[in-house]
Amino acid sequence: MLDVSSSVPREPATGSAADVVLSVENLEAWYGESHVLHGINFNVREGEVVTLLGRNGAGKTTTLKSVMGIITKRAGSVRFLGKEIIRTSSDKIARQGIAICPEERGIFSSLDVRENLLLPPTVRPGGLPLDQIFELFPNLKERLTSQGTKLSGGEQQMLAIARILRTGARFLMLDEPTEGLAPVIIQQIGNTIARLKSQGFTILLVEQNFRWASTVADRFYIVEHGKVIDGFASAELPANMDKLHTYLGV
Ligand code: ATP
Repeated sequence: MLDVSSSVPREPATGSAADVVLSVENLEAWYGESHVLHGINFNVREGEVVTLLGRNGAGKTTTLKSVMGIITKRAGSVRFLGKEIIRTSSDKIARQGIAICPEERGIFSSLDVRENLLLPPTVRPGGLPLDQIFELFPNLKERLTSQGTKLSGGEQQMLAIARILRTGARFLMLDEPTEGLAPVIIQQIGNTIARLKSQGFTILLVEQNFRWASTVADRFYIVEHGKVIDGFASAELPANMDKLHTYLGV
């Protein structure tokens, strides 16, 4: 049961605390004078897929951007692999192995697929070579010389994920990867996430599409008004559907 008197949500149970790769405590963030995050608490363990759920404007994207250091006006604690990064710049955070795939995907429309893939710098060893990228995303190989503008929404999303895999990051943050995509493509994105998980990547997702998220995630946190107000492990979902419908308004 949710304890509304506390800003720290109940911990969804799986794994052990020793596996924690990302630990976020009392994270606050501001856009100028606008105070948007009011104490976000959650953690992600090695090899997990964890999803942040919540209504529009709840603060999910801001949470990802604050972890990445893109939003600089922030307070609280973000520890990655045991190291405090709340005052670390985004380029240094990237070098520690975190990458973000933004909602807007960030594809360069005037460049072709190959150029888009080769553009991001490899920030640490372990970036996937092109042959492994094409194994994960066979479509991209066929579209290698197509310009960014000529790609479908699904191809753009796959290219956006492929690009962050090139950097060498092992902790991937994906912001609404299914947005605007057809069901068959959404299923492909789900398969890709499952493959990445099986290859040892750790993934933090932001999603509106709860039904899809429930097929890929190990654990869920609910964000509301800039706070994490509850959390569930995947196995706990069926018993908590009423609560979830209330939180998400679905
Ligand atoms: P959505 O799915 O709508 O993006 P979200 O949960 O990801 O929802 P955020 O994008 O993190 O929500 O937004 C949290 C709050 O911050 C909202 O009130 C939003 O209006 C505000 N906000 C987001 N971006 C900015 C910005 N660049 N400047 C000022 N306020 C912003």
